[in-house]
Amino acid sequence: MTLTVLNPATEEPIAEFEQAGVEEADEAVARARAAYPSWSAVSPSDRARLLRRLATLVEEHAEELARIESRNVGKPISGARGEIGMVAQVFHFYAGAVDKHYGDTIPVADGVAATFREPLGVVGLIVPWNFPLNIASWKLGPALACGNTVVLKPAELTPLSALRLAELALEAGIPDGVLNVVVGKGSVVGQRLIEHPDVAKIGFTGSTEVGRLVMKGAAETIKRVTLELGGKSANVVFANADLERAAAAAPYAVFDNAGQDCCARSRILVQKSVYDEFLDRLVEATRGLRVGDPSLEETEMGPLISQEHRENVASYVEGVPKLFEGEALEKPGFWFPPTLVEATNEHRVAREEVFGPVAAVIPFEDEADAIHIANDTPYGLSGSIWTRDGARALRVARALETGVLSVNSNSSVRVQTPFGGFKQSGFGRELGMQALDGYSEVKSVFISTEE
Ligand code: NAD
Repeated sequence: MTLTVLNPATEEPIAEFEQAGVEEADEAVARARAAYPSWSAVSPSDRARLLRRLATLVEEHAEELARIESRNVGKPISGARGEIGMVAQVFHFYAGAVDKHYGDTIPVADGVAATFREPLGVVGLIVPWNFPLNIASWKLGPALACGNTVVLKPAELTPLSALRLAELALEAGIPDGVLNVVVGKGSVVGQRLIEHPDVAKIGFTGSTEVGRLVMKGAAETIKRVTLELGGKSANVVFANADLERAAAAAPYAVFDNAGQDCCARSRILVQKSVYDEFLDRLVEATRGLRVGDPSLEETEMGPLISQEHRENVASYVEGVPKLFEGEALEKPGFWFPPTLVEATNEHRVAREEVFGPVAAVIPFEDEADAIHIANDTPYGLSGSIWTRDGARALRVARALETGVLSVNSNSSVRVQTPFGGFKQSGFGRELGMQALDGYSEVKSVFISTEE
């Protein structure tokens, strides 16, 4: 079946593909399996050299890759540039890290035990459409560095940057068969990778709903899985915060990438004593958001990914009191205005992941109330705490059931630090040194010293 890829900002087709099916997925796994013995035998420092070359090629092609991503996802070009910059950084980081990721020597009775880090084999990487190449790189970096070979399945809506990266990987000297990209439906190609007996692990980023299917499917062959799933994160603003800074930052924490961000702080929790003051500032800052053509330098928010997704996002704000609604652009493209709604934590809009430019503003009484509301969700991915009280910041940070937190900032992601969720936001960690653990197995070898 033919797959037509659209530019969500214009609804114009930008590419067409024959979609892969089970047969093509099996062929890709076979290629990855054939490439595995020699790739895993390459020394870590030689693999690092190749990854460094790939990082340099990504830097050299950064503008091209950012334009591909901006057109295919509808994301502002400035944001797309930042994401591609991070892709290069990720490959540099794992190139630098992998020959420092080794085992221990453990003194034991009658000898010594040594641990080794071994690659897993062929890994299947399934990624979503919101940060296509960026999220792919978080998995590819550690997977390739550890000596695994890969079958990457990009989201069917956004396959273009992954295909270009595969070409750059060959140009960097990464051998044929080590990185394979298969473009096809999740329920066909993704499902086949999950079931395939020759795939040792699935690294998955996507919805919690599909994450459940991955976990179930992986049980049959006892595959390893890393699941990076949805979120419903809280942006907690205490009365003693720098309200001007917090309010200026809050819109970007939820409307970046048009809210299609697993880390979106889509519940803005505000202490009651400063609620009105903060809200005025928040509305002003949201009003200032520049929505429009993603190819323009000044644009801060583009459209949603598809018509179907726009309808889904719209269903969350029907009948909910609005505190602010931006202007809806009346032109081709899947536009949706930045929207602030008043809600309690029980509303559907505050419980489910909207994955669009919609934030629920929720008042709270005191620290205990803030912690209770923030934790009252099945998710636990990210979040922010705004306060000038350092002790409170640390107390609340320890109490929140979430994998990634920032204090007086909305930043979620750094190449050097582990990223991942608590609760139904998934498990396993990406980025940082921890990601290398997820793409390798520990082997323990005992050496007898007995005569
Ligand atoms: P999705 O779960 O629909 O799809 C993700 C990937 O899984 C796609 O490649 C898709 O083709 C594939 N897939 C779909 N059905 C499948 C099946 N039955 N078997 C195997 N693979 C299947 O998610 P999406 O709509 O592409 O992305 C949005 C979701 O991703 C949101 O929930 C968001 O929170 C989440 N996300 C999480 C993170 C994180 O790091 N935690 C980052 C980005 C996005």
